[in-house]
Amino acid sequence: MEINDNMISEIIERVLKEVQEKSINDRYQNGIYDRMEDAIEAAYEAQKKLMKMSIEQRERLISAMRKAILDNAKSCAKLSVEETGMGRVDHKYLKLKLVAEKTPGTEVLTTKAYSGDKGLTLVEMAPFGVIGSITPSTNPAETVCCNSIGMIAAGNTVVFSPHPGAIKSSLMAVEFLNKAIIEAGGPENLITSVRKPSIEFTDVMINHPKINLLVATGGPAIVKKVLSSGKKAIGAGAGNPPCVVDETADIKKAARDIILGCTFDNNLPCIAEKEVIAVESIYEELIENMKKNGAYEITDNEAEKLADIVLTKKEELKAEGCSINRPKFEYSVNKKWVGKDAKVLLEQIGINVGDDIVCIIYRCDKQHPFVQEELMMPILPIVKVKNIDEAINVAVEVEHGNHHTAEMHSKNIDNLTRFAKAINTTIFVKNAPSYAGIGFGGEGYTTFTIAGPTGEGLTCAATFTRQRRCVMVDSFRIV
Ligand code: NAD
Repeated sequence: MEINDNMISEIIERVLKEVQEKSINDRYQNGIYDRMEDAIEAAYEAQKKLMKMSIEQRERLISAMRKAILDNAKSCAKLSVEETGMGRVDHKYLKLKLVAEKTPGTEVLTTKAYSGDKGLTLVEMAPFGVIGSITPSTNPAETVCCNSIGMIAAGNTVVFSPHPGAIKSSLMAVEFLNKAIIEAGGPENLITSVRKPSIEFTDVMINHPKINLLVATGGPAIVKKVLSSGKKAIGAGAGNPPCVVDETADIKKAARDIILGCTFDNNLPCIAEKEVIAVESIYEELIENMKKNGAYEITDNEAEKLADIVLTKKEELKAEGCSINRPKFEYSVNKKWVGKDAKVLLEQIGINVGDDIVCIIYRCDKQHPFVQEELMMPILPIVKVKNIDEAINVAVEVEHGNHHTAEMHSKNIDNLTRFAKAINTTIFVKNAPSYAGIGFGGEGYTTFTIAGPTGEGLTCAATFTRQRRCVMVDSFRIV
């Protein structure tokens, strides 16, 4: 038999896959199962054990989880970038550190009381039981760690269905969290997952009778899927955050903050600045200052070349009424380039720059696909508008009703308030990089599951609870 190049490539690919799977099997043992059904069953049994522990003991497990995240943050960040080819190791480390330090634990579980002539009524926050959590490729270990802390603090156990492209770092997090829990005296399998995640396994999880709550962190397809399941579901979906800059802003600071926010983990976070809408009187000054902070401006010609690479274009002739209108294009993001360094993206169009360049900026109008699409790479389109009225209208339009996140740089309180009201997003950041909205350099706790569509907002342990009322009539009042 003759062996050609294709056959050799296939054999190499198969062997590499087998080696990779074997290494996953060998390395990760705690809570990792071959079948989704077994992962769910194990988490179900573990939840009964968790319920026998006091809140104080539960909090001890949370402390151990926080320490394990900090201890493993560097290697996990590295693995995550290696396997996904997305983002930056230094920023993924900071995100994991943020999760360890600012994800709320049991302290946010509060009890409400109604006290009066008829006695005392308590409303307590109870766990759902076993939660099915679907996690993204963009913040893989961050989401596993953050959701695990919140879900376990609330008394649940959790089964993860991670993105197949981020399986190693997701399972690494499951492994080190479970180990830390067991070492701190907790039960096995508070966190479980499967070795080879797939859509089929996710469907098993969604439909399994022992899964009481679904939490989807990702794009529109998975959010729609869990919301159609007939179960209680929390959907943390896509965004396309616009950043408005008006003539009253501190332009130097605005330029610096925007580049910092936009380039954090190479623009992977769903909250990161995805397009800037700037009023004409400060437009040039803003762009000049962005260039002083690591931005490289591309021309129309270069932008066209870059768009051909990072977007896939589907040409459609759309019939409207009786006539066929001019061709309309539908774009989607070419995942190969998501989360890549600005330098690497520029190399694809023949531009070589130093490591100081972290962002690509481009002057364009609001219809440009760089504005319309959630690119998740450090390409920042900048739209010029006449005034704040137009800025607000454009920003609301390009956010596409996701109601996710928006930013604004301004010192005019009326303008800030008007935009905040009009855009109606879950997170609104004023005069700071976008990441201040998740507690990084801003007040408030952190989360990597921001539930806009279903309204829970920035999720935490309290989100993962159901309310239970207990009524004692004519007693227990001490007044
Ligand atoms: P993705 O939607 O491709 O994948 C997310 C998860 O859903 C993965 O586990 C994937 O395997 C699963 N999935 C996707 N389609 C599915 C289907 N039809 N059936 C079963 N499972 C399915 O997203 P991604 O590229 O990994 O992450 C980026 C997206 O997630 C962006 O749109 C971003 O805005 C969003 N995101 C939102 C938040 C938030 O808190 N709101 C946080 C992170 C990411």
